[in-house]
Amino acid sequence: MTPRGYGPSAAFCPRCAAALPGPAPTACTGCGYQLFVNARPTAGLVILDRPLAVPDRDSGAVVRRPAGVDVPQEAVTPGSGVETDGPRFLALRRAAAPMIGRWETPGGFCDGWEHPADAAVREAREELGVDLTLGDYLGMYVGSYEYQGEELPVLDVFFLATLGDQVIDLNRDEATEATWFPLLTPPPLAFGTMDAAIRTAARRLFR
Ligand SMILES: [Zn+2]
Repeated sequence: MTPRGYGPSAAFCPRCAAALPGPAPTACTGCGYQLFVNARPTAGLVILDRPLAVPDRDSGAVVRRPAGVDVPQEAVTPGSGVETDGPRFLALRRAAAPMIGRWETPGGFCDGWEHPADAAVREAREELGVDLTLGDYLGMYVGSYEYQGEELPVLDVFFLATLGDQVIDLNRDEATEATWFPLLTPPPLAFGTMDAAIRTAARRLFR
């Protein structure tokens, strides 16, 4: 089948349907329409199984706390709560293609003018049925996403988050299973950008 999308494999002008002279970035020789390919933004979540503060591995002292997150004092008493395998993060098993059956971090595409932080909160509501507390921005990573027969560039924007005492009500259309994995020894995730975000979170929490 001839590719007819308007991603990197676009072969026809999306405005006048003339054949394009080459791959984007290019301009239609029929109507002058300029076609670019840009990474599409997504919001991703590294949801931790505890308040957004982590005891230092050596001293037990709390070394940092993401801005804007209210952590109860009893949860951060120095010397308490030191665990050998550290914090865990929430992973979902994908219910749909691409990468069906693989573990992933929650998240999804941003809507048109939606800020990634708002998209992250919305996705958590849709996928997990929770109003989560968003923590620090973690980082952004360029990756690929296969959709409708096209390999699309994506810009995955990740945030730390926590559930508090909320219970997950999993949307079974999106995920078949939810579980917690150690942040320091994660399994391979569905997309390389997720692996990168987990590594960033581990470095940031344990530096
Ligand atoms: Zn055209």
